[in-house]
Amino acid sequence: MTPVCHAQSTEVGGMKVAFFGFGSCEGCRYRVVNELHKLAGESGIEIVREPLLGLSADTEYDVAVIEGSISTRDIEEVKKIREKAKLVVALGSCALLGETSTLGYRLGLRIEEYVKDGYADAVPVHQVIKVDSYVRGCPASVDELVRLLKTLAAGFPPLRYERRFEYERAADLVLDDGFLKLDTGKCIVCGRCVDLCAQLDVHALTQAYRGFRVIVTTPAQLPFMEAGCIRCGLCAAYCPVSALRYRSDVEGALELAKRGGKAVIERLALEATAEALGVKPGQVVSLLRELGFSDVEVVDPLTLAAGLGGLIPFSSAEERWIRQTFPEAASFVKPPVKLAAGKDTVVISACAARKEDHAPTITAHELVEIAKWSRIVLEDLPDEPLSVVSASGVKVAAGPEECKAAIGNFMKEPSGTLILQICPGGCAQGSGMPYRLLSQR
Ligand code: SF4
Ligand code: SF4
Repeated sequence: MTPVCHAQSTEVGGMKVAFFGFGSCEGCRYRVVNELHKLAGESGIEIVREPLLGLSADTEYDVAVIEGSISTRDIEEVKKIREKAKLVVALGSCALLGETSTLGYRLGLRIEEYVKDGYADAVPVHQVIKVDSYVRGCPASVDELVRLLKTLAAGFPPLRYERRFEYERAADLVLDDGFLKLDTGKCIVCGRCVDLCAQLDVHALTQAYRGFRVIVTTPAQLPFMEAGCIRCGLCAAYCPVSALRYRSDVEGALELAKRGGKAVIERLALEATAEALGVKPGQVVSLLRELGFSDVEVVDPLTLAAGLGGLIPFSSAEERWIRQTFPEAASFVKPPVKLAAGKDTVVISACAARKEDHAPTITAHELVEIAKWSRIVLEDLPDEPLSVVSASGVKVAAGPEECKAAIGNFMKEPSGTLILQICPGGCAQGSGMPYRLLSQR
């Protein structure tokens, strides 16, 4: 089945996008027009209405982007927009929540003019018409809007897992589901996690409140999984202050090492650990032996998928992502790649999502930390010879954009084995990679 976008135009000029402003400060649209160069040269997108650019004539369009809340005097106009548009996108906090226009009313400023003009009754756009997708923020994220428009222009449906939230609970927040822990007390609100999660089209994280009260949380402070989290671990990998963390199995792994257990390390994790520590990959194998592991096996997970045929999620995170984002592809999806690992085995991976499959699992990032804290002199470790079989006959799609395109192509012509790695940049920038390498790449 081919992905379908009802907004995609077959006419010359591609998908026509019209911007409309209602009750707001217009800050979102001013930011958007300043950055429209991000869409310049993008085939399939044409801005046909934006009064801030002097484009205000009544015209035909496929996608209506609506900024601002809707007062009683705007209702008929916004309904007409809905009738003409194939898709409607609500842009920014005013469109999603009412915000600026309703603020005075919430604060009790029942100014006569304000009430007379209908602003006292202003509501979010979705309370008046059906809205297909949302871009949050005050001001809204331009990058997110650009990504959304590109997705629609490429023929994909609106993001299905976008969530609005119409109320907020009091902040004092630790969210912990055993895989991911968010402690807002440590958060510096840099926004990296929110942006990364949005890049995956997941939107399990968002910012709530305003000004100095802003916190990062899940929509409506839902548990992570209810908020749509796919447990990729990427947000925790990039959090600069460990306000977001994934589960640590370091203690269990070191216990196993002391008891002479086995270590199975992914080739990519081995190479990344070696690079981060400034040693050779064979010396990392020696390091694991020095820590106490009786047996060390280096595997390339791609070899485990070779020849299976179908869409192979690299981990359980990709499996959730495909099922949430492309339910129409579900019949092509095979079980995720799993590393064979017995109970006396520790897995060492470039991907934090593997912690879902097996305990203990540590990441390359955690192995680097262990090496730094141990008293082992790394330069003196012998460089063990390695024999790792490389995979052949598999295609790999790395990052959300490549994955979306590759799934679309695969559904048109299902053949061969396609491995999906959802982290932007693929597993080379996976959630288990050492932080220093992540920030360099
Ligand atoms: S683990 Fe992944 S899906 Fe879940 S909140 Fe973090 S970035 Fe989003
Ligand atoms: S990456 Fe960490 S510090 Fe930055 S907003 Fe997210 S939780 Fe807060």
